[in-house]
Amino acid sequence: MEMNHARKDYFNYGSIYGEHVNPQWVRLLDVLGMNVRYERCEDVELQTYEGKNIMDFLSGYCVYNMGHNHPKIVEAVSDELYRRGPGMLQSHISDVAAELAYELCTLAGGRLKKVFFTSSGSEGVETVIKFSRAFTKRSGLLFCKGAFHGLTCGALSLMTDEFWQKGFGPLLPDTESVVFGDIEDLEVKLKIGKFAAFIVEPVQAEAGVYVPSREYLEEAQKLCRKYGTLFVLDEVQTGMYRTGHFLASQHYDLDPDMVVLAKALSGGLVPCGAVLMTDKINNSVYSSLSRAFVHASTFGENSLAMRAGLASLRVMQEENLGERALVNGAFFRDSLIKSLCKYEMVKDVRGLGMLNGIEFTSPERLRLKFFYNGFRKMHPGLFGMIVVMRLFREKNILTQICGNNYMVLKVTPPLTVTEAQLQQFVRSIDDIMDLVHTSASFWTEALKMARRATNI
Ligand code: PMP
Repeated sequence: MEMNHARKDYFNYGSIYGEHVNPQWVRLLDVLGMNVRYERCEDVELQTYEGKNIMDFLSGYCVYNMGHNHPKIVEAVSDELYRRGPGMLQSHISDVAAELAYELCTLAGGRLKKVFFTSSGSEGVETVIKFSRAFTKRSGLLFCKGAFHGLTCGALSLMTDEFWQKGFGPLLPDTESVVFGDIEDLEVKLKIGKFAAFIVEPVQAEAGVYVPSREYLEEAQKLCRKYGTLFVLDEVQTGMYRTGHFLASQHYDLDPDMVVLAKALSGGLVPCGAVLMTDKINNSVYSSLSRAFVHASTFGENSLAMRAGLASLRVMQEENLGERALVNGAFFRDSLIKSLCKYEMVKDVRGLGMLNGIEFTSPERLRLKFFYNGFRKMHPGLFGMIVVMRLFREKNILTQICGNNYMVLKVTPPLTVTEAQLQQFVRSIDDIMDLVHTSASFWTEALKMARRATNI
């Protein structure tokens, strides 16, 4: 402990990280004034070395559903470590993996009876690609425009945003996209009969927090069955009670063939993902003794990850976090709408449970339009980033804009967030929006900062 404190005095982490990991990331955080060092993270609060308390309204993109370093999860992982059991032995049957798989299948219900464990969401999507091809003996993969499924080559092939793909091709062949929410577009493609799976987020998160209609998802599932395509839900962000139920698909009473989970399953401590699937899909891959390990991953069932997953599920159930996400989420969006509807640059507030988005739009008033267009010319994400920066620097609140929609601020605090903290956020974003609409200095300062950061 003492050594840690001594190191902090002379060790320049930023420059070493820049030298050996990623200098542009350091540069970006520096420009935004968000390069702070966190000393202790508990529940919704992040304490910096400078003694600031920051409220986390990002949750590591829906990792910290149960808050940071929940004492029961820390204790469970630490107990597992001290158990000195077979952490990732490979040649055994993992007791903790069995326990976690049982819990996940019980909570998911329906035909989801088998689990493949991964160490990330992307790896889960890669698993879906392989398993759906093996099961259907088709090669095609269908996904939605604007989706985010991960940055490994297979998962990246199921996204449309050029920002993520440019320079990394060629990606997988036989992938096609449809418009999210457009059932006719989907049927036209499914009819071709070449698609192994239709992979969709039940609420599109990085696309801008879009909640589809019940009819769309129900009909999509029906059409998938009709045309022999697997109906696969990417619940990496929406799962683990984020939207109120264990799975977002449970809002819509869906019966998917496969579900991908990750992020919050880690307890925020040990990478952990899971692909839930039917017996038949599992059997199509592990079809004989000689294929018993034809798809596997060294870290997949490691006991620390499994224990973190089990402890996270327990905490979320004991603390009723699903119910809290539903009730507090509705209250939160209501308060946001009441406070922000007066601003012409706020177009919409939407979400499900505690997965929320605030959508901005270009202004009509000439003076605002002049500034805003200047921003857009420099970088389409600049306006949103400045809002994120001001919330962070002036209000001590951590947020982020959506990865595939720079005009939507993603607001996803831990599900443990209190009503008082939600109200504090509402007051803070109201203040920032007031500045946006009334103060020329908001725009001139931001433009100055943007010029300093040429080539973001
Ligand atoms: N699916 C969705 C919906 C995601 O949001 C993400 C990550 N943001 C992924 C998959 C990929 O997960 P990971 O970063 O763990 O690979």
